[in-house]
Amino acid sequence: MITMRNIILEGHPTLNKVANPVKTPLTFADRRLARDLHQFVVNSQDEQISTQYHLRPAVGIAAPQVNISKRMFAVHFSFQDEFYSFVVVNPKILNRSDQTTYLPGGEGCLSVDYDVDGITPRAMEIELEFEKFDPKTNKLESAHLKLSGYPAIVFQHEIDHLDGILFTSKVFNELPEAIPAFEIINEEDL
Ligand code: ZN
Repeated sequence: MITMRNIILEGHPTLNKVANPVKTPLTFADRRLARDLHQFVVNSQDEQISTQYHLRPAVGIAAPQVNISKRMFAVHFSFQDEFYSFVVVNPKILNRSDQTTYLPGGEGCLSVDYDVDGITPRAMEIELEFEKFDPKTNKLESAHLKLSGYPAIVFQHEIDHLDGILFTSKVFNELPEAIPAFEIINEEDL
């Protein structure tokens, strides 16, 4: 089981490396890593387990954050009517919008254990392809997704980890060109 002890922090060299592609089909060890990463995110959102193990709540975690330099990350969150709960292997961004967005409260990261003031620009929309691993069935299948707003921000944060980039390297006081992600949600609610 992954706990905070396994998570490396900003300054560790693995977090600055471009991670290696994952060989498919997945090895036994890579399947276990994928399940462990996913289980961490699920556990981190469970009140009892996260309290017991002092887990910081997360919606995603990337393999480099547990010091394994492989192009793999897990997500577990829902947004509007979509549920994103799987492991992304070898993602490739095919398109990104010129329009940018950001989380108004700023981003957080399991590998950054201090408060960061400021906002991080992300493409409002991305289109990506990847191998999707289902931790319940152990199946790996090709996937193609278009994401917008919050999910697009989460995936870009995680893909940055695979490219050795932390959000702390792209923090700004203001982004006049960008549309804040939560305002988009409010508009849709109206
Ligand atoms: Zn992070």
